[in-house]
Order: sequence, then structure tokens, then C-alpha cells
Amino acid sequence: MKETPTRQAAAEAAGSAEAGPSHANRAGGLLTIDLDAVAANWHLLAGRAAGAECAAVVKADGYGLGAGAVAARLQREGCRQFFVAHLHEGVALRTHLLRDCAVQVLNGPLPGTAAAFEAHGLTPVLNSLEQIAEWRELAGSLGRPLCCTLQVDSGMSRFGLSAADMDRLAAEPALLDGTGPMLLMSHLACADTPEHPMNERQRQAFEQLRRRLPHLPASLAASSGIFLGPAFHYDMVRPGAALYGVNPTPGAPNPMHPVLRLEGRVVQERWIGAGDSVGYGARFTASGPTRVATVAVGYADGYLRAGGEHGFATWADEPSLRLPVIGRISMDSLALDTTPLGTRTLPPGTPVELIGPHRSLDAAAADAGTIGYELLTDLGRRYHRHYLERHDHGDAS
Ligand SMILES: *Cc1c(COP(=O)(O)O)cnc(C)c1O
Repeated sequence: MKETPTRQAAAEAAGSAEAGPSHANRAGGLLTIDLDAVAANWHLLAGRAAGAECAAVVKADGYGLGAGAVAARLQREGCRQFFVAHLHEGVALRTHLLRDCAVQVLNGPLPGTAAAFEAHGLTPVLNSLEQIAEWRELAGSLGRPLCCTLQVDSGMSRFGLSAADMDRLAAEPALLDGTGPMLLMSHLACADTPEHPMNERQRQAFEQLRRRLPHLPASLAASSGIFLGPAFHYDMVRPGAALYGVNPTPGAPNPMHPVLRLEGRVVQERWIGAGDSVGYGARFTASGPTRVATVAVGYADGYLRAGGEHGFATWADEPSLRLPVIGRISMDSLALDTTPLGTRTLPPGTPVELIGPHRSLDAAAADAGTIGYELLTDLGRRYHRHYLERHDHGDAS
């Protein structure tokens, strides 16, 4: 992967004060984020949902990869709708985006925060009659209409207006005075399981709820929902995880481009003999001469403790050899069995790949008993972050 000077700018856009080669030399772990792959993924998803607008969900700091850098790049690709979960995420994201981009906040306003949404140019997703009242009262006090998205609960019982709430809004349109709904959205519980009856059940429920407020543009699908077919696309799709390389079609080959590469750096190597143990709890005991490399990535960096038993690393010079993780993952380090490398040693500072071309994000997550989403959002703060951009698409501003 070749890099251009834009990566420095991207690192700064991501809010990383620590960019550049000296920081890379000091960090125990290296996170390489391919913004070209994020852009390609966005175009792939937009193509799958042709006819619908393709938004980008960048909550939880862009699923751990840097909301500012991701959103700034997708804005240059033509994306105009961005979703975060919390108000403060929206406030931070706004500074990276042009005014013509919408920043929607999925959780909506908590009591007393509506004015902050308006002040920062954020669009709330209103999930309850209480949130609608907050927004309506703000519009009334400002004496001008605002805009918002309304979310309905189509069966997930998490966020959104109930059928009874929607009946009430249909019967009393004044409840929406000044709130300016631009979009009606809902969210699918089982979209990653295409054959699950819940998908069609939720789509039908969404159809019913839409009839109470007809003519509003609609949005139902996130990453996996896009792959359920055109009936689920409506006017806007809201992918998150698939942008970052998570497989939106588990059980079938991943159509997305990998975005993330995680490398840890070797601190030291040693030989141990039969009967010697490794790590906390002495969970691994060598049965014969074994070479052990200590790598400066641990669970505090999001390399999950539960993932240790099945984990492995690869070294660039011998990429076909798996170097198994042995013993418990520590907070700041993990141990690899590097015996498979024979006489070749890994000098201090050598990077080994923990997630990347030789071990997919989804596989690493599955080995730790979780999903790619959680692995991404657990990535720690100690890595040197390196943003790759081969193509400079120029700045739209
Ligand atoms: C997180 C989220 C998304 C994005 O979901 P992915 O599965 O990551 O694509 C879309 N809509 C809502 C309401 C969400 O909470």
C-alpha cells in the first residue's frame, strides 16, 4: 500500500495529535486504516442500493477508525448524510463537514439538549413523543421551523415511536408543529440473517406505520439490510459496519474491501524449555523447546482476552506460517509461539500482523466469541494510526 502526503492531513482530520514517523517508532501497535477501501465500500453499497441515497453511519468514532477522517473522505466521494449516536459525537463531526451535509443524531435529544442540536446544526432523530415535544417547543421559542427525522419502532423495541404514538401524531398534527420531519426511519433486528421471518415482519410493520404519516421519505436498511433486496431500500440506506469492512452477509463471502490492518511490535524473544509456562495463570506449558515472542499489544488495546485461545499472528517475511498466541493475553502484551520460524528471529520492533490480509476482522472477532462491530469499537487509544489514501480526490470545499 503506497501512501501520499494526504495521510498526514487525514491523521490530523481524525483528531490525532500524534502523527508522523517518530510516533510510529514509539508505538507498540500500528493501526493502518485504508480510506480508499472505505470509499470503495461506500460506492459498492450505494450501487447495491441504486435509487436510494446512501448515507454513512460514523457513530462511536467511525466504529473506532476515526469519524472525522472517514466522514471527510466520504464527503469528497459525494456522501451528504451522516449518522452518529450521541450529541457530542455530532458536535465533533460537524467541524469536519460542509454545511450542506446533514449530521443526524440517532439517540435524539435527551431532556434539555434540543437547543444544543440547533446551535450545532445537527438533525435529531426523534424517537418518542417527549423528544418531539422538546423539538416542537424549541421551534416555537425560535419562531421558525426546524428539521428532524422521525424513528418508528417496527419490532426491535429499542428506539422509536410506537404504533399508538403514530396514531396520536396522525390524529393531532399540531404535535409536529415546527418540527419539520424530513425522513421516517426504522431499524432491522435480524438483517444479517436473510431467511429470518423478522425481516419481512418488520418491513410490513414499517409499511403500516408509514401510512400514518404518508409522503415522508423512508429509510429502513443498515449494512445487512441493503443485501435483503430493493424492497428494503426505500429512499435512504444507512450502512455503518460494511463501510469498515465487516461482512454484511455472514455465511456468504464478504463483498466488502478490508479496511483495517492491525500490527503489534515485538519487544523481546526468548527460548523456553519443556515444562516452562507462559503468562498469567501459567495457562500454557511448553512441551519442548519453544521460542516465545512478547508483542506490545494487549487487551487494553482491544485485543480481547477471550480471543487468545485461537489467535495467531503472521510475519511479513513468512506470511504463510501461523504464529499462535499462547497463554493469557495481558493488559499490555501478548505472547506468540515463534518456533515455526526456525532459525529466523524477530528483532525488537518487528511488526507482526494480528488483523489484516492474513486474518480477517470477522475471523478474529469470531475467535474471540464476538462480532466485527465490537472488535472495531474496542480498538484502543495507544496505537499509532496511519491513514492510507492513494487517490487524492481533491477537496470539495
Ligand atoms: C448503528 C446503526 C446503523 C448502522 O448499522 P450497521 O449494521 O453498522 O450498518 C444504522 N441505523 C441505526 C439506527 C443504527 O443504530
